[in-house]
Amino acid sequence: MFDVLIVGAGMVGASLACALGDKNCKSNRSLKIGIIESHSNFLRGEFSADGRASAIAYGSSQIWQNIGVWGGMERRGVTPMHKIQISEGDLPYQVQLRREDMGQEALGYIVENSVTLASLWEFARQCQNIELICPAQVLDIEYVSDRDVMRVKVSSEIGDQYLETKLLVGADGGRSQVRQLANITTSERHYEQTCIVTTIKSENPHQNFAYERFQPSGPFAILPLGSDRACVVWTATKKETPRLLALNEADFLQEMCLRFGKPLMEQLGSIEIESRTRANYEPRWMHSQTYIKPRLAIVGDAAHTTHPIAGQGMNLGIRDINALANVLKTAHQNNQDVGSIKVLKIYEARRKWDNLGVILLTDISNRIFSSQNWFFKGLRRFGLLILQISLFKRILMFFMMGLHQV
Ligand SMILES: Cc1cc2nc3c(=O)[nH]c(=O)nc-3n(C[C@H](O)[C@H](O)[C@H](O)COP(=O)(O)OP(=O)(O)OC[C@H]3O[C@@H](n4cnc5c(N)ncnc54)[C@H](O)[C@@H]3O)c2cc1C
Repeated sequence: MFDVLIVGAGMVGASLACALGDKNCKSNRSLKIGIIESHSNFLRGEFSADGRASAIAYGSSQIWQNIGVWGGMERRGVTPMHKIQISEGDLPYQVQLRREDMGQEALGYIVENSVTLASLWEFARQCQNIELICPAQVLDIEYVSDRDVMRVKVSSEIGDQYLETKLLVGADGGRSQVRQLANITTSERHYEQTCIVTTIKSENPHQNFAYERFQPSGPFAILPLGSDRACVVWTATKKETPRLLALNEADFLQEMCLRFGKPLMEQLGSIEIESRTRANYEPRWMHSQTYIKPRLAIVGDAAHTTHPIAGQGMNLGIRDINALANVLKTAHQNNQDVGSIKVLKIYEARRKWDNLGVILLTDISNRIFSSQNWFFKGLRRFGLLILQISLFKRILMFFMMGLHQV
């Protein structure tokens, strides 16, 4: 019988496993943790399928630091963000967020997803209380009420087997099967947009500056990486996406440089595309009506997804697992049942409003910044002006950096 069985060893699920692991926290040794992952590549240490990188809020880096996994990420390479410039295309309405304004060494970090996953898996494998069940797939779940346990049907190379756990955690992403099997309903909305992700290399140093340039098609983000590379997240309208994806490399680069704008192109010098693939994703707004059921909790994208515009999706997931791990560890230390609904309710109460607030604000920002309506144009320019005022800027940075949940 597992104490906690996690489905999905992506960035959120693997972070939860590490937080409950015994490598740096001997009191976790008596917790029996299992983690089920369907991707066999992960077992072979191959994590770099799409070349994506994520903006990690300063607060999330502190959570990983406390767990003990941040050192592994730093060793593999993280890029501190010294400045974030938010602008409406090339118009002079812009806000500069600088690390000096908050007195921190960085506003956050850009970390390639492969670096995050490799570091988390390395740590998880060094924990004696974690069993990695991979490659394996969850087929069914059943809450056995007379014994008050969760039974999970799992398919793996050794065939189908049933596992039992005091708590099942769904960390299996936006299309979560665990969420669907538990009949948790969601509210969701699809955007008429596509996010195209590619990696570039510039001639001149990027100076650890990140850019969020709002265009009529949607936001265009440039996230600095090591060796003067950058990850570009280009939000295009659904209509223009097939044409952009079909362009040859030279034409694609030319279109992309137009979105960088002249002043930035002058700063960066010539640009070349480094990634061989153009990964593309359909952004979606989704929020689950509940995060908990008897002997079950959902975290990360399984519970909520948001438009990548603000780079907050995974940061919310990291805050989820931090809250859940703290609640479970306290319950364990007090000899309480880790899967009891009383314990799980504390997790849900700590996380629901932060998640909902960020998802709604992100949705509103995307709408306001993508609209060509004169009212919204005026509103966003007013917003960018208001953010010149130090107090408002610091409030925005406080939340963006995730400092309210550290
Ligand atoms: C273009 C783009 C840019 C983004 N940029 C940022 C950013 O800058 N900052 C940020 O914070 N967020 C960002 N995000 C969001 C972030 O990527 C997600 O929030 C994050 O990856 C969610 O992690 P997760 O572990 O919850 O889910 P996933 O990454 O989807 O992981 C789920 C895992 O579960 C496994 N799995 C699924 N089903 C099963 C099953 N039945 N059995 C076993 N295993 C299963 C999968 O193989 C996978 O490994 C971005 C998203 C996109 C699309």
